[in-house]
Amino acid sequence: MLARLKADLGLAEILAALSFWRGGAVQRFESRFSEMVGQKHAIAFPYGRTGLVALLKVMGLEGREVICPAYTCVVVPHAIVTAGCTPVFVDSAEADFNMNLALLESAVSEKTGAVIITSIFGHPADLDAVRAFRVRFPHIKIIQDCAHSFLACWNGERVNVVGDAAFFGLNVSKIMTSVFGGMVSTDSDELNQKLHFLSSELLKPASRKKSLLRLAYLVSVVVAFNKVVYGLVNRLERSGFLDRFVKYYDESVVEMPSDYLISMTDVEARVGLVQCKKYEKIVAHRRQLAGIYHRELRSVSFVRLPQLLEGSTCSHFVIRTKYAVEIISYMLEHGVQLGELIDYQIPSMSSYTDASFLDGGVSKHWPGQVINLPVHMGCSIKDAERLCYLLKNIKVE
Ligand SMILES: *Cc1c(COP(=O)(O)O)cnc(C)c1O
Repeated sequence: MLARLKADLGLAEILAALSFWRGGAVQRFESRFSEMVGQKHAIAFPYGRTGLVALLKVMGLEGREVICPAYTCVVVPHAIVTAGCTPVFVDSAEADFNMNLALLESAVSEKTGAVIITSIFGHPADLDAVRAFRVRFPHIKIIQDCAHSFLACWNGERVNVVGDAAFFGLNVSKIMTSVFGGMVSTDSDELNQKLHFLSSELLKPASRKKSLLRLAYLVSVVVAFNKVVYGLVNRLERSGFLDRFVKYYDESVVEMPSDYLISMTDVEARVGLVQCKKYEKIVAHRRQLAGIYHRELRSVSFVRLPQLLEGSTCSHFVIRTKYAVEIISYMLEHGVQLGELIDYQIPSMSSYTDASFLDGGVSKHWPGQVINLPVHMGCSIKDAERLCYLLKNIKVE
């Protein structure tokens, strides 16, 4: 069974996680991470979303509006609400899944405190447009959501550096991972100082028990994604048996995980340090597979391919099609698991229907029509080519 998402975790990470005698790993991970993303400071958090909550708080934005994309991970508006702010949604652009920056200005009000710029699926946000916005509205904070876009570049420039701060998600579904975990990066000494102070006030230190649970989780992920085991897990998932465990959000509630205020463990930081070394290789592989999909699938009439930009991390390769259901089930019969990655538009979810939304009529068509093709290290060039062969030969029309 070829899995649709897979973290590149193995023995090296398990051994690093077990190296309990190597203390101070969180600080080491922070300084390695800040070097990697080319910013002065990096501060570790238990989740990317915790980093966003902390940022909004230290920026003093409680009670203000925060603009974010209508099509993004639902944890982003949850974090905005948790920080005491009000999310305002802006629709996405047809071309690249990113927020339509031409609509952004119309979403600004006197209450706007910040805007979250997301390079979704690793496709870099247009930094020229972001800079133009900054010039027009210098008092509005700019936060880069880099959960899919560590080191993504727009015309050679890293997306994370343009704005006041960036945050990163590091769970097992991301390009690189520290099991769970997140980071905030910034060049501002003041923000850095405030974030450290807030962290010491807000976050509880990780207990020994949390470290052991994270270690157990790491081992179970490595085992579950073994090709043989994964086939079994997938059958269980399809039977509905795993719904209780794998369905990760409930439309009608805005909530954070129960441990979102408990610090990142050293176990996670040691895993993150191993992953930093692998990062370039992982991205090169993703870009190579994306290139293959682009070349091979160009002729398939019922599939719309994403734009391929040089600076993209190719975190996810997402196609659009009217035949998502047919394609997913056909591929599954042939041992290839596909699925929808973000299968919702946030302003149409019941917890956000009352929120203000600048609707361009674009992203509402995406739920049910997007499929992500595997680009992870467990998908070889041969696997990708076979997938293209299968996809080209499906009779849907
Ligand atoms: C994963 C993700 C985040 C943050 O995720 P956490 O699980 O809180 O670490 C933020 N934005 C996007 C677009 C994401 O995919």
